[in-house]
Amino acid sequence: MRPFNFSAGPAALPEEVLQTAAAEMLDWHGSGMSVMEMSHRGREFASIFEAAEHSLRTLLAVPSNFRILFMQGGGLAENAIVPMNLSRGGLVDFVVTGSWSKKSLKEAGRYCDASAAGSNEGNRHTDVPAPATWALRSGLSYVHVCTNETIDGVEMQTLPDLAALGCDAPLVIDCSSHILSRSIDWSRVGLAFAGAQKNIGPAGLTLVFVREDLLGHALSICPSAFDYRVVAENNSMFNTPPTYAIYIAGLVFDWVQRQGGVAEMERRAITKAELLYGYLDNNGGFYANRVAKPARSRMNVPFFLSDESLNDAFLAGAREAGLLQLKGHKSVGGMRASIYNAMPLQGVQALVNHMQDFARRHG
Ligand code: PMP
Repeated sequence: MRPFNFSAGPAALPEEVLQTAAAEMLDWHGSGMSVMEMSHRGREFASIFEAAEHSLRTLLAVPSNFRILFMQGGGLAENAIVPMNLSRGGLVDFVVTGSWSKKSLKEAGRYCDASAAGSNEGNRHTDVPAPATWALRSGLSYVHVCTNETIDGVEMQTLPDLAALGCDAPLVIDCSSHILSRSIDWSRVGLAFAGAQKNIGPAGLTLVFVREDLLGHALSICPSAFDYRVVAENNSMFNTPPTYAIYIAGLVFDWVQRQGGVAEMERRAITKAELLYGYLDNNGGFYANRVAKPARSRMNVPFFLSDESLNDAFLAGAREAGLLQLKGHKSVGGMRASIYNAMPLQGVQALVNHMQDFARRHG
C-alpha cells in the first residue's frame, strides 16, 4: 500500500488514475502515442479534451451560459488575469479571509482600485466575517472572495448572496482548494477559478468558469493569451493548453463520477472532516485547531501541538507510520492535514491513530 499523502498541493491523486495513466503512458488507446506527444489540434487529443470538458460540466452542473476555459498560470496568475479582464480599471472589493485573498487584493491593486470590504486579519484569519458586515462600495466591477483558504483552513460554507446585500456586481470566487468537494451555486457566481493541483490533477492547468456576459472587456494591456474572450473563442486552443494535465484531469473527473459524483465527494468530505476535528476538539489539549467552528475547512486542517518542541518528532513518527507531508505552511507553523477528494477515510483514521499514539507517549 502507498503511504497516505496529506500535501496541500500538488496533492495526492486517486491511485486508479495513476494506474490508468501508467498503463496508457506509451500508447494511448492504440494511437501509438503518449498523450504528451499528441498535437493539441489532432483528433485524439480533441476527443480527450471534449470528454474532459463534458464531464466537468456535468459534475458541477455548469450552466450553458458559462464558458469553461482550460488555461495556464495557476491561481497567482489569475490574481492578475481576473482584474485585467473584469475590472475595466474601476472599483473592485475583496473580502480578506486568509493568505490567498490577501495576495489577490494586493495583485489586483496593480490594475484597478482594489479595496478590502471585510477582513478577518484582526482574528488572525480564523473566521469568515459575516456578509452583512461587509462594507461594499457602490459601482463595483466585481467582488472577490477565496472560498477555501488553503493555508489558514478557513472555508465559506455558503457563497455570499451579493444581490441580497444590495450589490449587483458579479462575484468572483477562488475555489482552487475545494473545487469538486461540494456543489457550486452558479446563480451567485460570475466567475470561478481554480488551479488544478489539489482536487483535479497535476499543476500547470488552471480552470476558469466565466459567465458569457463578462467576456470581451479586457484592458488593452491584457496579453491575448490571457484575454478570456480570445481563449473562449478559440476553445482554449489559442495557445497550446497543458495537454497532459488536461488528460489526467479528465481521468480524475471520470473517477469522481464513478464514486458517485460531487454529492458523494461532499458526503465523504464531511465524514473525514468530522473525524479529524472531532479528535482535535477532544484530546485533552495536546492538539488544537484555532479556526471558528462554522468557518472550518473540510479540505485543509491546520493544527498545533501544545508543546511545539515536539513538532519534529511528530513529523518523523508520522513519516514512519506512512503519513506524508503534514508540516504546516511556513507562515502559520504547526501541522496541516490536507484531506482532499483522493484521501480515503482510512488515511484520516490512520492520522488520528498516530496522533493518539503520539499523545499517549509524549503527553
Ligand atoms: N489560491 C489558492 C486558494 C491556493 O491554494 C493557491 C495555491 N496553493 C493559489 C491560489 C495559488 O496557486 P498557484 O501556486 O498555482 O499560482
